[in-house]
Amino acid sequence: MRSLTDLRSDEIASRISSKIREIAKRVGSVKIMNFCGTHEWTITHYGIRYLMPEEVELVAGPGCPVCITPAYYVDAVVKLAVEGIRVMTFGDAFRLMGTKARGLPRNLEEAKQDGADVRIVYSVLDAIKIAKDDKESIFFGVGFETTAPATLGPISSRNLPENLSLVIAHRLTPPIMRYVLENYPGSPIRGIIAPGHVSTITGADAWRFVAEEYGIPIVVSGFEPIDVLLSILEIVKQIDRGEAKLFNEYSRAVKASGNERALKVMEETSDVVDAAWRGIGFVPKSGLILKEKYERYDAFRKYGIKEISKEEWYNDSIPGCKCTEITLGIAKPTECPLFMKVCKPESPYGPCMVSGEGTCLIWAKYGSSEFLSDIAGDI
Ligand code: SF4
Repeated sequence: MRSLTDLRSDEIASRISSKIREIAKRVGSVKIMNFCGTHEWTITHYGIRYLMPEEVELVAGPGCPVCITPAYYVDAVVKLAVEGIRVMTFGDAFRLMGTKARGLPRNLEEAKQDGADVRIVYSVLDAIKIAKDDKESIFFGVGFETTAPATLGPISSRNLPENLSLVIAHRLTPPIMRYVLENYPGSPIRGIIAPGHVSTITGADAWRFVAEEYGIPIVVSGFEPIDVLLSILEIVKQIDRGEAKLFNEYSRAVKASGNERALKVMEETSDVVDAAWRGIGFVPKSGLILKEKYERYDAFRKYGIKEISKEEWYNDSIPGCKCTEITLGIAKPTECPLFMKVCKPESPYGPCMVSGEGTCLIWAKYGSSEFLSDIAGDI
C-alpha cells in the first residue's frame, strides 16, 4: 500500500470524498456553512460541491467584508470625495455601491470618473505615502479582523500624518456567526467551516463557543481543496460520533490564541461596539470605533459626519437583490432572478457581485451545477 505522500492530490481528494460519502449515508442530511468568501471560492472553483453526496449541502456564509459594508459608509465617503477630499481604499470597496442619495455618484468608481481624487491602494501604508503631499485625505478601511490591525497599526505606532484620517468600517466575525446561528430559518446548520485568514488573527479559540454553546462541530480550515475536504470529513465524523468540538485543521498558520500583537493593536486603538451590517441591521459587539484619545484620526468626527445609529439605520438592501439572504446562507445566487441577467461581473447590480469574495461573483465566474446546466440547456 502506498503512503499518503505518494498519492497525487486528486487521488487524496477522491479518497477523502469516498469517506465523506460513506459516513454521510449513516448521518443523513448535513448542512455545512463555510463562513468565508475564500472558502466559497475554493469550493466553487474546484467543484467540491460535485464531490459531495446528496446528503451533504455546502452553503456560503457572511464572510465577504465588502458585501456587508453598509451603504451609509459608501455614501459618506463618496460625498467626501465629491467635496474634494482624496479617498483611498481597497480595489473591491472602490466598486461597492451606495444608495445614490441626494444625486451622489453610485460608488467611488463613478466619483472618480466624475473627476474626484479616488485612489486604489493595497493598505493604509500606501495611503500614508500618497498623503505625504499634505492634501486632505481619508482611508476607507473595510474588512474583518484580517485587515483591521493593518488599518489601526499606524495609529498605534503614531505614523499617521495630520492630513490623513480613517473611516473605520471594520467588522468582527464571531458576533455575526452567533447572529446567523440564532436567526437561521429552515433546516439547521450542522457544521461550520470557520475562516482561516481571520483565525490567524483571532486564534482558533475564538470559535470554541460554536461547539460549546450551540453543539455544532466547527473546523478552522485552510484554503487548499484538500483542506476543505478534510474539514468536511472532520465535521461528518464528529456528527457520526455524536460530538461537537472545535478542530483546527489549519494549524500550519493558525494558533489557538491568534496573533497577540495584532490583537493588542486593535485593543489599544479601538472599542468594540454594536454595529450595522448591510441588509442585516445592527449586530451586538460586531464593530470597531476609534478610542476617544485617537479621535483626531476619525474622518467622521473630523468632517462632521455622524456614525450611523440603531435608530437611524435603514434597510440598505438594493431592491430586487437577494444579497442579504445569500450572505446569511439562506439563498443561493441562482435563486436571484437578476443573476447573470441584470447583474453580471462586468456590471454588478448588488454588493455580492462586486468583490472576489462575494458569492454571486464567485458563482458567476466559476459556475455552479445549476448555473452550468442552465447554460447547457440554452445551448
Ligand atoms: S445576483 Fe446580483 S442582484 Fe442578485 S443577489 Fe447577487 S448581487 Fe444581488
